[in-house]
Amino acid sequence: MLSNLATRDVETLIHPYTNLDAHRANGPLVLERGAGVHVYDTEGRPYIEGMSGLWCTALGFSNPELVEAAAAQMSRLPFSHLFSGRSHDPAIELAEVLKELMPVPTSKVFFTSSGSEANDTQVKLAWYYNNALGRPRKKKIIGRQRGYHGVTVATASLTGLPANHADWDLPLPGFLHTACPHHYRFAEPGESEEAFSARLADELEALILREDPDTVAAFIAEPVMGAGGAIVPPRGYFPAIQAVLARYDVRLIADEVICGFGRLGTWFGSEALGMSPHTLSFAKAVTSGYVPLGGISVDEPLYAAMVDQSAKLGTFGHGTTYSGHPVACAVALKAIEIYRRDRVVEGAAEKAPHFQARLARLAEHDIVGEARGIGLIGGLEIVADKRSRAQYHPKAGVAARCVAFAQGEGLIVRFLAGDRVAVCPPLIITPDEIDDLFDRLTRALDRTRDWIRA
Ligand code: PLP
Repeated sequence: MLSNLATRDVETLIHPYTNLDAHRANGPLVLERGAGVHVYDTEGRPYIEGMSGLWCTALGFSNPELVEAAAAQMSRLPFSHLFSGRSHDPAIELAEVLKELMPVPTSKVFFTSSGSEANDTQVKLAWYYNNALGRPRKKKIIGRQRGYHGVTVATASLTGLPANHADWDLPLPGFLHTACPHHYRFAEPGESEEAFSARLADELEALILREDPDTVAAFIAEPVMGAGGAIVPPRGYFPAIQAVLARYDVRLIADEVICGFGRLGTWFGSEALGMSPHTLSFAKAVTSGYVPLGGISVDEPLYAAMVDQSAKLGTFGHGTTYSGHPVACAVALKAIEIYRRDRVVEGAAEKAPHFQARLARLAEHDIVGEARGIGLIGGLEIVADKRSRAQYHPKAGVAARCVAFAQGEGLIVRFLAGDRVAVCPPLIITPDEIDDLFDRLTRALDRTRDWIRA
Protein backbone atom coordinates (compact mmCIF):
# COMPACT_ATOMS: atom_id res chain seq x y z
CA MET A 1 0.00 0.00 0.00
CA LEU A 2 1.61 3.26 -1.14
CA SER A 3 1.64 6.29 1.15
CA ASN A 4 -0.24 9.41 0.14
CA LEU A 5 2.90 11.14 -1.17
CA ALA A 6 4.06 8.01 -3.00
CA THR A 7 0.65 7.73 -4.72
CA ARG A 8 0.77 11.38 -5.77
CA ASP A 9 4.31 10.83 -7.05
CA VAL A 10 3.24 7.90 -9.23
CA GLU A 11 0.37 9.97 -10.62
CA THR A 12 2.47 13.00 -11.53
CA LEU A 13 6.23 12.46 -11.85
CA ILE A 14 8.57 10.90 -14.37
CA HIS A 15 11.79 9.79 -12.70
CA PRO A 16 15.22 9.71 -14.36
CA TYR A 17 17.00 6.35 -14.64
CA THR A 18 14.05 4.41 -13.28
CA ASN A 19 12.17 1.33 -14.43
CA LEU A 20 8.99 3.30 -15.01
CA ASP A 21 6.80 0.21 -15.10
CA ALA A 22 8.10 -1.15 -11.77
CA HIS A 23 7.86 2.34 -10.30
CA ARG A 24 4.10 2.40 -10.86
CA ALA A 25 3.75 -0.66 -8.61
CA ASN A 26 6.45 0.02 -6.03
CA GLY A 27 6.42 3.82 -5.75
CA PRO A 28 9.41 5.81 -4.48
CA LEU A 29 11.21 6.15 -1.17
CA VAL A 30 10.11 9.67 -0.21
CA LEU A 31 12.75 11.47 1.84
CA GLU A 32 11.97 14.43 4.01
CA ARG A 33 15.16 15.63 5.70
CA GLY A 34 18.79 14.84 6.32
CA ALA A 35 21.48 15.43 8.95
CA GLY A 36 25.14 14.41 8.76
CA VAL A 37 25.38 11.09 6.89
CA HIS A 38 21.73 10.24 7.55
CA VAL A 39 18.51 10.94 5.66
CA TYR A 40 15.00 10.38 7.00
CA ASP A 41 11.86 9.29 5.16
CA THR A 42 8.41 10.73 5.70
CA GLU A 43 7.74 8.13 8.44
CA GLY A 44 10.85 9.37 10.27
CA ARG A 45 12.89 6.23 9.48
CA PRO A 46 16.66 6.95 9.28
CA TYR A 47 18.98 5.65 6.56
CA ILE A 48 22.74 5.94 6.18
CA GLU A 49 23.11 7.74 2.85
CA GLY A 50 25.77 5.38 1.55
CA MET A 51 25.71 7.01 -1.90
CA SER A 52 26.05 10.68 -0.89
CA GLY A 53 22.77 11.20 -2.75
CA LEU A 54 24.13 10.63 -6.25
CA TRP A 55 27.89 10.63 -5.49
CA CYS A 56 27.75 14.28 -4.43
CA THR A 57 26.93 15.28 -0.82
CA ALA A 58 30.51 15.04 0.40
CA LEU A 59 29.79 17.23 3.44
CA GLY A 60 26.67 15.28 4.40
CA PHE A 61 23.24 16.80 4.87
CA SER A 62 22.00 20.10 6.30
CA ASN A 63 25.42 21.63 6.82
CA PRO A 64 24.47 25.01 8.36
CA GLU A 65 27.39 26.89 6.83
CA LEU A 66 26.38 25.87 3.29
CA VAL A 67 22.76 26.78 4.04
CA GLU A 68 23.86 30.17 5.36
CA ALA A 69 26.11 30.82 2.33
CA ALA A 70 23.17 30.12 0.00
CA ALA A 71 20.77 32.27 2.02
CA ALA A 72 23.20 35.20 2.22
CA GLN A 73 23.80 35.17 -1.55
CA MET A 74 20.05 34.77 -2.20
CA SER A 75 19.41 37.93 -0.21
CA ARG A 76 22.29 39.93 -1.70
CA LEU A 77 22.17 39.04 -5.44
CA PRO A 78 20.05 35.97 -6.19
CA PHE A 79 20.69 36.06 -9.91
CA SER A 80 23.10 37.57 -12.28
CA HIS A 81 24.90 36.18 -15.32
CA LEU A 82 28.23 36.18 -17.09
CA PHE A 83 27.03 37.01 -20.64
CA SER A 84 28.53 39.82 -22.74
CA GLY A 85 30.44 41.93 -20.28
CA ARG A 86 28.63 41.15 -17.01
CA SER A 87 30.17 39.48 -13.96
CA HIS A 88 29.74 39.05 -10.20
CA ASP A 89 32.09 38.46 -7.30
CA PRO A 90 31.17 34.85 -6.35
CA ALA A 91 32.03 33.63 -9.88
CA ILE A 92 35.29 35.59 -9.95
CA GLU A 93 36.38 34.37 -6.52
CA LEU A 94 35.41 30.78 -7.25
CA ALA A 95 37.33 30.78 -10.54
CA GLU A 96 40.40 32.07 -8.66
CA VAL A 97 40.12 29.36 -6.00
CA LEU A 98 39.59 26.63 -8.60
CA LYS A 99 42.60 27.79 -10.62
CA GLU A 100 44.72 27.28 -7.50
CA LEU A 101 43.30 23.80 -6.87
CA MET A 102 43.30 22.39 -10.40
CA PRO A 103 45.82 19.59 -10.98
CA VAL A 104 45.98 20.57 -14.67
CA PRO A 105 47.39 23.68 -16.39
CA THR A 106 44.46 26.09 -16.09
CA SER A 107 44.25 29.46 -17.69
CA LYS A 108 40.51 29.98 -17.11
CA VAL A 109 37.42 28.25 -15.74
CA PHE A 110 34.09 27.90 -17.56
CA PHE A 111 31.00 27.22 -15.44
CA THR A 112 27.96 25.09 -16.22
CA SER A 113 25.10 23.79 -14.07
CA SER A 114 25.73 20.04 -14.33
CA GLY A 115 28.22 17.35 -15.22
CA SER A 116 26.43 16.68 -18.50
CA GLU A 117 26.74 20.31 -19.54
CA ALA A 118 30.40 20.34 -18.51
CA ASN A 119 31.19 17.34 -20.72
CA ASP A 120 28.98 18.66 -23.51
CA THR A 121 31.09 21.82 -23.37
CA GLN A 122 34.23 19.65 -23.60
CA VAL A 123 32.93 18.07 -26.81
CA LYS A 124 32.04 21.41 -28.38
CA LEU A 125 35.38 22.93 -27.39
CA ALA A 126 37.32 19.98 -28.79
CA TRP A 127 35.60 20.71 -32.13
CA TYR A 128 35.96 24.51 -31.80
CA TYR A 129 39.66 24.14 -30.96
CA ASN A 130 40.46 22.08 -34.02
CA ASN A 131 38.47 24.41 -36.26
CA ALA A 132 40.49 27.29 -34.84
CA LEU A 133 43.73 25.40 -35.61
CA GLY A 134 42.60 24.74 -39.18
CA ARG A 135 42.16 20.97 -38.58
CA PRO A 136 38.49 20.52 -39.46
CA ARG A 137 38.82 16.72 -39.79
CA LYS A 138 40.18 16.22 -36.24
CA LYS A 139 36.81 15.84 -34.53
CA LYS A 140 36.24 12.26 -33.32
CA ILE A 141 36.09 11.64 -29.61
CA ILE A 142 36.88 8.34 -27.93
CA GLY A 143 35.16 7.26 -24.71
CA ARG A 144 35.20 3.84 -23.08
CA GLN A 145 32.73 1.01 -22.81
CA ARG A 146 30.93 1.47 -19.47
CA GLY A 147 32.17 5.04 -19.12
CA TYR A 148 29.47 7.51 -18.01
CA HIS A 149 29.56 11.15 -19.02
CA GLY A 150 25.97 12.42 -19.01
CA VAL A 151 22.67 12.50 -20.85
CA THR A 152 22.78 15.21 -23.49
CA VAL A 153 22.92 13.98 -27.06
CA ALA A 154 26.70 14.39 -27.14
CA THR A 155 27.48 13.16 -23.62
CA ALA A 156 25.19 10.13 -23.92
CA SER A 157 27.19 9.44 -27.10
CA LEU A 158 30.43 9.64 -25.06
CA THR A 159 28.89 7.27 -22.53
CA GLY A 160 29.52 3.58 -23.09
CA LEU A 161 26.47 2.02 -21.42
CA PRO A 162 23.78 0.21 -23.45
CA ALA A 163 20.88 1.99 -21.70
CA ASN A 164 22.15 5.32 -23.04
CA HIS A 165 22.31 4.14 -26.64
CA ALA A 166 19.62 1.58 -27.40
CA ASP A 167 16.41 3.19 -28.69
CA TRP A 168 17.93 6.68 -28.42
CA ASP A 169 19.56 6.49 -31.88
CA LEU A 170 22.93 7.05 -30.24
CA PRO A 171 25.90 7.28 -30.29
CA LEU A 172 26.14 10.01 -32.90
CA PRO A 173 28.67 9.43 -35.68
CA GLY A 174 32.16 10.45 -34.61
CA PHE A 175 31.88 9.04 -31.07
CA LEU A 176 33.91 5.88 -30.55
CA HIS A 177 34.42 3.56 -27.58
CA THR A 178 37.44 1.60 -26.53
CA ALA A 179 37.69 -1.24 -24.00
CA CYS A 180 36.70 -0.94 -20.35
CA PRO A 181 39.66 -1.27 -17.95
CA HIS A 182 37.98 -3.83 -15.71
CA HIS A 183 40.66 -6.33 -14.79
CA TYR A 184 38.38 -8.73 -12.90
CA ARG A 185 35.98 -9.07 -15.86
CA PHE A 186 38.08 -8.60 -18.97
CA ALA A 187 41.69 -9.65 -18.24
CA GLU A 188 42.88 -12.94 -19.75
CA PRO A 189 43.46 -15.73 -17.21
CA GLY A 190 46.76 -15.00 -15.46
CA GLU A 191 47.19 -11.59 -17.14
CA SER A 192 48.79 -9.10 -14.72
CA GLU A 193 47.30 -5.63 -14.23
CA GLU A 194 50.29 -4.09 -16.02
CA ALA A 195 50.00 -6.49 -18.99
CA PHE A 196 46.25 -5.82 -19.19
CA SER A 197 46.92 -2.05 -19.20
CA ALA A 198 49.49 -2.46 -21.96
CA ARG A 199 47.03 -4.52 -24.01
CA LEU A 200 44.28 -1.88 -23.63
CA ALA A 201 46.75 0.83 -24.68
CA ASP A 202 47.60 -1.24 -27.78
CA GLU A 203 43.89 -1.62 -28.54
CA LEU A 204 43.44 2.13 -28.24
CA GLU A 205 46.37 2.73 -30.57
CA ALA A 206 44.94 0.29 -33.11
CA LEU A 207 41.60 2.11 -32.97
CA ILE A 208 43.22 5.51 -33.51
CA LEU A 209 45.26 4.18 -36.45
CA ARG A 210 42.22 2.50 -37.97
CA GLU A 211 40.22 5.73 -37.75
CA ASP A 212 43.19 7.89 -38.92
CA PRO A 213 44.92 9.97 -36.20
CA ASP A 214 44.16 13.16 -38.14
CA THR A 215 40.46 12.59 -37.37
CA VAL A 216 40.73 11.95 -33.60
CA ALA A 217 40.46 15.00 -31.34
CA ALA A 218 40.12 13.76 -27.77
CA PHE A 219 39.82 10.86 -25.34
CA ILE A 220 37.60 11.16 -22.25
CA ALA A 221 37.87 9.09 -19.07
CA GLU A 222 36.67 9.11 -15.49
CA PRO A 223 39.61 8.40 -13.15
CA VAL A 224 37.43 5.74 -11.47
CA MET A 225 34.38 4.70 -13.50
CA GLY A 226 31.33 5.42 -11.38
CA ALA A 227 28.05 4.45 -12.99
CA GLY A 228 29.84 1.75 -15.02
CA GLY A 229 30.49 -0.20 -11.81
CA ALA A 230 32.89 1.70 -9.51
CA ILE A 231 35.77 0.35 -11.59
CA VAL A 232 39.31 1.24 -10.51
CA PRO A 233 41.74 1.09 -13.44
CA PRO A 234 44.51 -1.51 -13.34
CA ARG A 235 48.07 -0.51 -12.41
CA GLY A 236 49.83 1.46 -15.14
CA TYR A 237 46.63 2.13 -17.10
CA PHE A 238 46.66 5.90 -17.48
CA PRO A 239 50.42 6.25 -18.15
CA ALA A 240 50.09 3.61 -20.91
CA ILE A 241 47.00 5.29 -22.41
CA GLN A 242 48.56 8.75 -22.21
CA ALA A 243 51.66 7.62 -24.09
CA VAL A 244 49.41 6.58 -26.99
CA LEU A 245 47.40 9.83 -26.92
CA ALA A 246 50.59 11.91 -26.94
CA ARG A 247 51.85 10.08 -30.06
CA TYR A 248 48.79 11.16 -32.04
CA ASP A 249 48.15 14.60 -30.58
CA VAL A 250 44.87 13.51 -28.96
CA ARG A 251 43.78 15.60 -25.98
CA LEU A 252 42.88 13.88 -22.70
CA ILE A 253 39.73 15.05 -20.90
CA ALA A 254 39.39 13.87 -17.28
CA ASP A 255 35.78 13.54 -16.19
CA GLU A 256 36.18 14.38 -12.50
CA VAL A 257 32.44 14.74 -11.88
CA ILE A 258 32.51 11.97 -9.23
CA CYS A 259 36.19 11.86 -8.27
CA GLY A 260 36.74 15.62 -7.92
CA PHE A 261 36.86 17.21 -4.46
CA GLY A 262 38.27 14.45 -2.34
CA ARG A 263 36.54 11.19 -3.24
CA LEU A 264 39.79 9.24 -3.71
CA GLY A 265 41.55 10.97 -0.80
CA THR A 266 43.14 13.51 -3.16
CA TRP A 267 41.57 16.76 -4.37
CA PHE A 268 41.08 15.26 -7.83
CA GLY A 269 41.04 11.63 -8.93
CA SER A 270 43.64 12.36 -11.63
CA GLU A 271 46.21 12.97 -8.89
CA ALA A 272 45.62 9.54 -7.34
CA LEU A 273 45.85 7.62 -10.61
CA GLY A 274 48.77 9.12 -12.53
CA MET A 275 46.54 10.95 -14.95
CA SER A 276 47.80 14.16 -16.64
CA PRO A 277 44.83 15.50 -18.58
CA HIS A 278 44.74 18.64 -20.72
CA THR A 279 41.41 19.63 -19.19
CA LEU A 280 38.93 18.35 -16.61
CA SER A 281 35.22 18.49 -15.92
CA PHE A 282 33.81 18.88 -12.42
CA ALA A 283 30.34 19.09 -10.83
CA LYS A 284 28.59 17.35 -7.89
CA ALA A 285 30.85 17.77 -4.80
CA VAL A 286 32.03 21.23 -5.87
CA THR A 287 28.94 22.42 -3.93
CA SER A 288 28.59 19.16 -1.95
CA GLY A 289 25.55 18.73 -4.21
CA TYR A 290 23.56 21.45 -2.42
CA VAL A 291 23.10 23.60 -5.53
CA PRO A 292 23.66 22.57 -9.17
CA LEU A 293 27.05 23.64 -10.47
CA GLY A 294 29.58 22.20 -12.88
CA GLY A 295 32.38 23.44 -15.06
CA ILE A 296 35.62 22.79 -16.87
CA SER A 297 39.23 23.93 -16.74
CA VAL A 298 40.55 25.59 -19.90
CA ASP A 299 44.29 25.47 -20.64
CA GLU A 300 46.17 28.27 -22.39
CA PRO A 301 46.28 26.77 -25.93
CA LEU A 302 42.52 26.15 -25.84
CA TYR A 303 41.85 29.61 -24.40
CA ALA A 304 43.98 31.26 -27.11
CA ALA A 305 41.98 29.41 -29.78
CA MET A 306 38.70 30.48 -28.16
CA VAL A 307 39.80 34.11 -28.14
CA ASP A 308 40.78 33.98 -31.83
CA GLN A 309 37.56 32.31 -32.90
CA SER A 310 35.34 34.63 -30.90
CA ALA A 311 37.15 37.64 -32.40
CA LYS A 312 36.46 36.27 -35.87
CA LEU A 313 32.81 35.46 -35.20
CA GLY A 314 32.05 38.40 -32.92
CA THR A 315 31.17 36.20 -29.95
CA PHE A 316 31.97 32.95 -28.17
CA GLY A 317 28.63 31.31 -28.92
CA HIS A 318 28.20 29.01 -25.94
CA GLY A 319 26.90 29.19 -22.34
CA THR A 320 23.61 29.00 -20.48
CA THR A 321 21.50 31.35 -18.39
CA TYR A 322 22.80 29.64 -15.26
CA SER A 323 26.52 29.38 -16.19
CA GLY A 324 28.16 30.63 -13.00
CA HIS A 325 24.94 31.18 -11.04
CA PRO A 326 25.88 33.39 -8.06
CA VAL A 327 24.14 31.24 -5.43
CA ALA A 328 25.85 28.10 -6.75
CA CYS A 329 29.23 29.85 -6.79
CA ALA A 330 28.74 31.17 -3.24
CA VAL A 331 27.91 27.66 -1.98
CA ALA A 332 30.91 26.19 -3.83
CA LEU A 333 33.20 28.79 -2.26
CA LYS A 334 31.92 27.83 1.18
CA ALA A 335 32.20 24.09 0.47
CA ILE A 336 35.83 24.50 -0.63
CA GLU A 337 36.55 26.64 2.42
CA ILE A 338 35.21 23.80 4.60
CA TYR A 339 37.12 21.12 2.67
CA ARG A 340 40.32 23.10 3.33
CA ARG A 341 39.65 24.26 6.90
CA ASP A 342 38.41 20.89 8.19
CA ARG A 343 40.99 18.86 6.23
CA VAL A 344 38.12 16.92 4.63
CA VAL A 345 40.24 15.57 1.76
CA GLU A 346 43.08 14.52 4.07
CA GLY A 347 40.45 13.03 6.39
CA ALA A 348 39.08 10.95 3.51
CA ALA A 349 42.61 9.66 2.85
CA GLU A 350 43.02 8.79 6.55
CA LYS A 351 39.72 6.90 6.70
CA ALA A 352 40.24 5.14 3.36
CA PRO A 353 42.28 2.15 4.67
CA HIS A 354 39.53 1.31 7.19
CA PHE A 355 36.79 1.76 4.56
CA GLN A 356 38.68 -0.37 2.03
CA ALA A 357 39.45 -3.08 4.60
CA ARG A 358 35.76 -3.40 5.49
CA LEU A 359 34.87 -3.41 1.77
CA ALA A 360 37.50 -6.07 1.01
CA ARG A 361 35.99 -8.38 3.65
CA LEU A 362 32.79 -8.51 1.56
CA ALA A 363 34.72 -10.36 -1.17
CA GLU A 364 34.48 -13.39 1.13
CA HIS A 365 30.69 -13.35 0.91
CA ASP A 366 29.12 -16.25 -1.04
CA ILE A 367 27.57 -14.04 -3.73
CA VAL A 368 30.35 -11.43 -4.14
CA GLY A 369 32.88 -12.02 -6.92
CA GLU A 370 34.91 -8.88 -6.40
CA ALA A 371 34.93 -6.03 -3.89
CA ARG A 372 37.00 -3.16 -5.24
CA GLY A 373 37.60 0.48 -4.47
CA ILE A 374 39.91 3.33 -3.65
CA GLY A 375 39.53 6.21 -1.20
CA LEU A 376 35.90 6.37 -0.07
CA ILE A 377 34.33 4.72 -3.10
CA GLY A 378 33.66 1.03 -3.55
CA GLY A 379 31.89 -1.44 -5.78
CA LEU A 380 30.72 -5.02 -5.38
CA GLU A 381 30.28 -7.43 -8.25
CA ILE A 382 27.60 -9.99 -7.48
CA VAL A 383 28.15 -13.37 -9.15
CA ALA A 384 26.30 -16.66 -9.43
CA ASP A 385 29.55 -18.62 -9.27
CA LYS A 386 32.69 -17.26 -7.65
CA ARG A 387 35.08 -19.58 -9.51
CA SER A 388 33.79 -19.08 -13.07
CA ARG A 389 32.64 -15.50 -12.29
CA ALA A 390 29.37 -16.30 -14.07
CA GLN A 391 26.62 -13.76 -13.50
CA TYR A 392 22.93 -14.16 -12.80
CA HIS A 393 20.54 -13.51 -15.66
CA PRO A 394 20.06 -9.71 -15.88
CA LYS A 395 16.29 -10.17 -15.54
CA ALA A 396 16.79 -11.83 -12.11
CA GLY A 397 17.58 -8.37 -10.74
CA VAL A 398 19.88 -9.66 -7.99
CA ALA A 399 21.80 -6.44 -7.32
CA ALA A 400 18.55 -4.45 -7.37
CA ARG A 401 17.17 -6.86 -4.79
CA CYS A 402 20.30 -6.42 -2.64
CA VAL A 403 19.82 -2.65 -2.76
CA ALA A 404 16.19 -3.10 -1.67
CA PHE A 405 17.29 -5.33 1.22
CA ALA A 406 19.88 -2.68 2.19
CA GLN A 407 17.10 -0.10 2.28
CA GLY A 408 15.22 -2.41 4.64
CA GLU A 409 18.36 -2.41 6.80
CA GLY A 410 18.42 1.40 6.85
CA LEU A 411 21.16 1.84 4.25
CA ILE A 412 21.04 3.52 0.86
CA VAL A 413 23.44 2.09 -1.74
CA ARG A 414 23.09 2.06 -5.51
CA PHE A 415 22.43 -0.70 -7.95
CA LEU A 416 24.40 -0.46 -11.20
CA ALA A 417 23.87 -2.42 -14.41
CA GLY A 418 25.64 -5.78 -14.56
CA ASP A 419 24.77 -6.79 -10.98
CA ARG A 420 27.02 -4.26 -9.33
CA VAL A 421 26.42 -2.35 -6.11
CA ALA A 422 28.13 0.98 -5.44
CA VAL A 423 29.02 2.59 -2.11
CA CYS A 424 30.11 6.22 -1.93
CA PRO A 425 29.30 7.80 1.47
CA PRO A 426 29.76 11.43 2.48
CA LEU A 427 33.45 12.18 3.10
CA ILE A 428 32.56 13.29 6.64
CA ILE A 429 31.55 9.74 7.62
CA THR A 430 33.19 8.61 10.90
CA PRO A 431 34.99 5.25 11.41
CA ASP A 432 32.06 4.03 13.55
CA GLU A 433 29.59 5.00 10.83
CA ILE A 434 31.75 3.14 8.29
CA ASP A 435 31.41 0.02 10.46
CA ASP A 436 27.68 0.57 10.76
CA LEU A 437 27.40 0.95 6.96
CA PHE A 438 29.27 -2.29 6.24
CA ASP A 439 27.41 -4.23 8.95
CA ARG A 440 24.14 -3.25 7.27
CA LEU A 441 25.50 -4.06 3.80
CA THR A 442 26.64 -7.49 5.01
CA ARG A 443 23.15 -8.20 6.34
CA ALA A 444 21.67 -7.08 3.00
CA LEU A 445 24.00 -9.50 1.16
CA ASP A 446 22.99 -12.31 3.56
CA ARG A 447 19.33 -11.62 2.87
CA THR A 448 20.01 -11.55 -0.90
CA ARG A 449 21.78 -14.94 -0.70
CA ASP A 450 18.89 -16.39 1.31
CA TRP A 451 16.40 -14.97 -1.22
CA ILE A 452 18.35 -16.55 -4.10
CA ARG A 453 18.41 -19.92 -2.35
CA ALA A 454 14.75 -19.85 -1.33
N1 PLP B 1 30.14 12.41 -15.48
C1 PLP B 1 30.13 11.50 -14.49
C2 PLP B 1 31.38 10.75 -14.20
C3 PLP B 1 28.98 11.28 -13.74
O1 PLP B 1 28.97 10.35 -12.80
C4 PLP B 1 27.83 12.04 -14.05
C5 PLP B 1 26.59 11.84 -13.27
O2 PLP B 1 26.48 10.97 -12.43
C6 PLP B 1 27.89 12.96 -15.09
C7 PLP B 1 29.06 13.13 -15.77
C8 PLP B 1 26.67 13.75 -15.46
O3 PLP B 1 26.44 14.70 -14.48
P1 PLP B 1 24.96 15.33 -14.32
O4 PLP B 1 24.08 14.22 -13.87
O5 PLP B 1 25.19 16.40 -13.28
O6 PLP B 1 24.59 15.89 -15.61
